[in-house]
Amino acid sequence: ELKDNTIVIVLGASGDLAKKKTYPALFGLYRQGFLPRDVKIVGYARTKMDEAEYYKRITSYIKVPEEEEAAAQLEEFKKLSTYVAGDYEDGAAFDNLNKHLEEIESHYQSKECNRLFYLALPPSVFIPVAKNLKEHCYVSKGGINRIIVEKPFGKDLESARELLGSLKQYWSEDETFRIDHYLGKEMVKNMLVLRFANVALGAAWDKNSISNVQITFKEPFGTEGRGGYFDEFGIIRDVLQNHLLQVLCILAMERPVSFSAEDIRDEKVKVLRAIPPIEQSDTLLGQYVAANGKPGYLDDDTVPHNSVCPTFAATTLWIHNPRWEGVPFILKAGKALNEAKVEVRIQFKDVTQGIFKDISRNELVLRIQPSEAVYLKLNTKTPGLYTRAIPTEMDLTYKRRFSDTKIPEAYEALILDALKGDHSNFVRHDELDHAWKIFTPILHWIEGKSGQRPRPVNYPYGSRGPKELDPFITKYGYKRSTEGYNWPVTNLS
Ligand code: NAP
Ligand code: NAP
Repeated sequence: ELKDNTIVIVLGASGDLAKKKTYPALFGLYRQGFLPRDVKIVGYARTKMDEAEYYKRITSYIKVPEEEEAAAQLEEFKKLSTYVAGDYEDGAAFDNLNKHLEEIESHYQSKECNRLFYLALPPSVFIPVAKNLKEHCYVSKGGINRIIVEKPFGKDLESARELLGSLKQYWSEDETFRIDHYLGKEMVKNMLVLRFANVALGAAWDKNSISNVQITFKEPFGTEGRGGYFDEFGIIRDVLQNHLLQVLCILAMERPVSFSAEDIRDEKVKVLRAIPPIEQSDTLLGQYVAANGKPGYLDDDTVPHNSVCPTFAATTLWIHNPRWEGVPFILKAGKALNEAKVEVRIQFKDVTQGIFKDISRNELVLRIQPSEAVYLKLNTKTPGLYTRAIPTEMDLTYKRRFSDTKIPEAYEALILDALKGDHSNFVRHDELDHAWKIFTPILHWIEGKSGQRPRPVNYPYGSRGPKELDPFITKYGYKRSTEGYNWPVTNLS
């Protein structure tokens, strides 16, 4: 439940994540009445700013809805928020922050005060900040303290263990909320319900019915001058090892005993433990090159001129358990592709031949973004005086089916969960450990730790990816329907 007398402290309040996600989400929750009573928000960073500058920054990405009261609500929201400047390594600066927090709390009716610390900071300062918060800003008189952190959690198994181990010295697992914002997305949350609340789907959810699964992330733009950061990480760390793997866990896990956080996370960990490290031969790496007037990755001045960092990757994971033995789970993600989309495509096996031949396979598509939808491609008799089957769909498009519902932003959902103390949609330490075990060997191979660095294959900016992609996917049994599937274009999709 929500605790009254809570202060949300945003560390790194001058930065990108804070202005793009954290503050807009806090405002979204505030508007809808989901923040605790008497909540206050305190920003902290090194940058010296007066109030006007602070307000300008934190509201720069907030889209104020058209209703008249929204502008007034934004003014009220600003009044909840104050800013303190200070260093990350300096204990005295955190004493100063603590004084500010105590001054706010002195106006609260009750003695019990709660603090939620949100680290919107680069990982280089995670540890000193976590330490200083514990030593200088931790409420000890009966209230709760929680800390939210976000990726990157290390660069491989060893560095992740080191980081997690250090943070653990100061903050317990129960106090720690590790964000993977995909777990806050509406369609990802829907997967548990789709799977476990529908006998019809649940019955077909295994190796007997499913041929292959693709989990796809496509972005239509490149690094565009911000490649310096990206080049150190690459697409696998940026998208596959965390976001897409989390989606895989939810798709593949067994039914949890309950919806409690530990029951869900126990099942996710079991899936991860059944996945061996990814093989080089199950990996396809790509890097985009200039095309159609758009620059290639190496044309980005912030990228080293001979970089072999992958901007596209497809990897196939295998789950060795009775439900999934032999079913390939293909995770693929890329920048500078032909479209923006994140989807899961579950392709079912061929129908028994005989009365049918060359008939399309069923596919269940869960579109995570944009425009959430679930559709099942299935064969239907062509209406009329023929007996031919054509592929059609059963379609659940959210905008049409739930036209009056506002779908929350992932960060709104997650901050609300953290305020309530619900860990279900946050990543537990052992999930991370296993996730790194699966990916560390290919990451080390890509970085040349076992010899020469592999060169990614080129693909043109704006294409679907490397030309090697379709043979790669076909190798794992994916069959693209020969019969063209036509989606009647509506203005909803
Ligand atoms: P950022 O803007 O680079 O950094 C946030 C703030 O930290 C800066 O305003 C700066 O504040 C301080 N800072 C920056 N570099 C520093 C350094 N080397 N040493 C000490 N302080 C430094 O980072 P961000 O994009 O907000 O990301 C924060 C965290 O969220 C990162 O872990 C990132 O990976 C993750 N993340 C970000 C996004 C996003 O959309 N940006 C999305 C997902 C995850 P002062 O100089 O004022 O102290
Ligand atoms: P699609 O966009 O045609 O993609 C189908 C699959 O085929 C994807 O895995 C895609 O791979 C691959 N593919 C696309 N072009 C290819 C090519 N030239 N060669 C080989 N493989 C190719 O999706 P769909 O599910 O069949 O649906 C067709 C259209 O109808 C889509 O635009 C979809 O959004 C729309 N639709 C919308 C709804 C709805 O909004 N509710 C419902 C049904 C259909 P990559 O992803 O790697 O490119």
